[in-house]
Amino acid sequence: MDLTFPSGQQRSAALRVSCLPAFQDNYLWVLHDHTHAVVIDPGDAQPVERFLDQHGLLLTAVWVTHHHADHTGGIEALSQRGTIPVYGPGREPLPMLTHDLHAGDEVTLAQPQVPFRVLHLPGHTLGHLGYLVPGPIPWLFCGDTLFGCGCGRLFEGTPAHMLESLHQLARLPPATLVYCAHEYTQANIRFALEVEPDNPALQQRARDCAALRSAGQATVPSAIALECATNPFLRCTQPTVVHTVQSRCPETQPDELSIFTALRAWKNRF
Ligand SMILES: [Zn+2]
Repeated sequence: MDLTFPSGQQRSAALRVSCLPAFQDNYLWVLHDHTHAVVIDPGDAQPVERFLDQHGLLLTAVWVTHHHADHTGGIEALSQRGTIPVYGPGREPLPMLTHDLHAGDEVTLAQPQVPFRVLHLPGHTLGHLGYLVPGPIPWLFCGDTLFGCGCGRLFEGTPAHMLESLHQLARLPPATLVYCAHEYTQANIRFALEVEPDNPALQQRARDCAALRSAGQATVPSAIALECATNPFLRCTQPTVVHTVQSRCPETQPDELSIFTALRAWKNRF
């Protein structure tokens, strides 16, 4: 995928991503240039307000990936800080939405200076969006679509929707950093090891993530290359994955969609 914007806009070199943990295992993400800030999926206003106040930041936009309460519950309280544009999928019930976005939209915020491209990623919900920020290493904010070593549950979409959404993400530049919305990686790795026990990249990831978690650190962001090497939901054409799924569910056909469907159903029970 070509990540050059026709206008040649770049993200500000000063732009930073900060991680705000919320609830049990959610991550809210803040993009800021030390003056202005965008928050992605503010399920809870409190950690966002604390962070803005601590760093003297002015909130200038909210991006929403999908309508679930743990991604939207803080929007109303945050909007009391001023008139704050809320970007998201208009086809989902979102509080205070001001900018209805669609696949392929390219938008550039002025403050902080951040261009982004909109991806439509149905599966977890039908209107689910991803936000791709171009740069030397692109940043992807993908909500509950792609997780560290896993993928979101299919609450509204079909397996075919989710598989196509994951294909879109797998085609991004390998170095793209993946900022998902939950710390699920270790549990997902336990499942992935059932699927591909002999995958050395996965074994290494299990060790790396265990070290990060015991040091109290996030396993997110990961990168597209790491997901392609270790995430079973991106590996449904690998012979080992096909073999494992077919030996557990012998009626499963060997095509990618059938394997993905069976794998997602197995994970739901895992
Ligand atoms: Zn969700």
